[in-house]
Amino acid sequence: MTDLSRLCIHMVTLNERCDFGAAVDCLARNGVMQTAPWVAKVDEIGVSAARKLLDDAGVSAVSLAPGAGLTGIGEEAGRAGIDENRRLIDMAAELGAASLVTLTGGLPEGDHDLDGARKRAFDRLAELAPHARAAGVRLALEPLHPMVCGFRSVICSVSEANDWLDQLDAPDVFGIAIDSYAVWWEGGLAGEIERAGERIANVHISDWLRDTSDVRLDRGMMGDGIIDNRLFCRRIDATGFSGPIEVEIFSARNWWQRDPDEVVETIKTRFAEHVL
Ligand code: ZN
Repeated sequence: MTDLSRLCIHMVTLNERCDFGAAVDCLARNGVMQTAPWVAKVDEIGVSAARKLLDDAGVSAVSLAPGAGLTGIGEEAGRAGIDENRRLIDMAAELGAASLVTLTGGLPEGDHDLDGARKRAFDRLAELAPHARAAGVRLALEPLHPMVCGFRSVICSVSEANDWLDQLDAPDVFGIAIDSYAVWWEGGLAGEIERAGERIANVHISDWLRDTSDVRLDRGMMGDGIIDNRLFCRRIDATGFSGPIEVEIFSARNWWQRDPDEVVETIKTRFAEHVL
């Protein structure tokens, strides 16, 4: 029988057809016992109800996603980003998740100063460290594809994430979430994965469709696109990583519309064929 013990399916993969409880039930009945709760789904029912649903089903939370942006301009916007991330760190701890998938955010509306946005995000990340340390939650910084630099993440490569973590110099708090969809294009990726080493907190996979219609919301199922997810995962495993491999598919017009049991069954099959 195929060993699916490392398989984790992000709750957002079942985004449109399942609320929190339905997603947990669907995963459990299909034998997938790990998920990454999606903040909006937790907020719909409250964190203690969410934790109870996980516990009752025997499904564990690997990480919580996504963190809030940190690039807002000015004291008030900066404070709001920090406060929201503190709330999400506490939420992750309450769900039993080891990490919060942390995004810098993009450029605020009307802003053209990319260096300034990067600096604000960096400084505010540093400010979050004590809270995360006290909560026992790792901040897994996730670089995203450059096409979403403007509105999701002002860092776009594992190389940049490694540089930031060198400078933040708090290995007990900061890690990296490496998503094959976000960084498959990166020159020198193998070397940057090796350099990340023990920083690797989370591993996300899906596929890049050659003729994608939306770089954010048209992710493909493993095997349908051009990413070699098996090679990607083996490179990560070579660093000593042995944690969950998390399937995260944003697919507004395809997978999100399908029957959730069909989606999970397809992921299990593709995971065996294209990842293990
Ligand atoms: Zn991701």
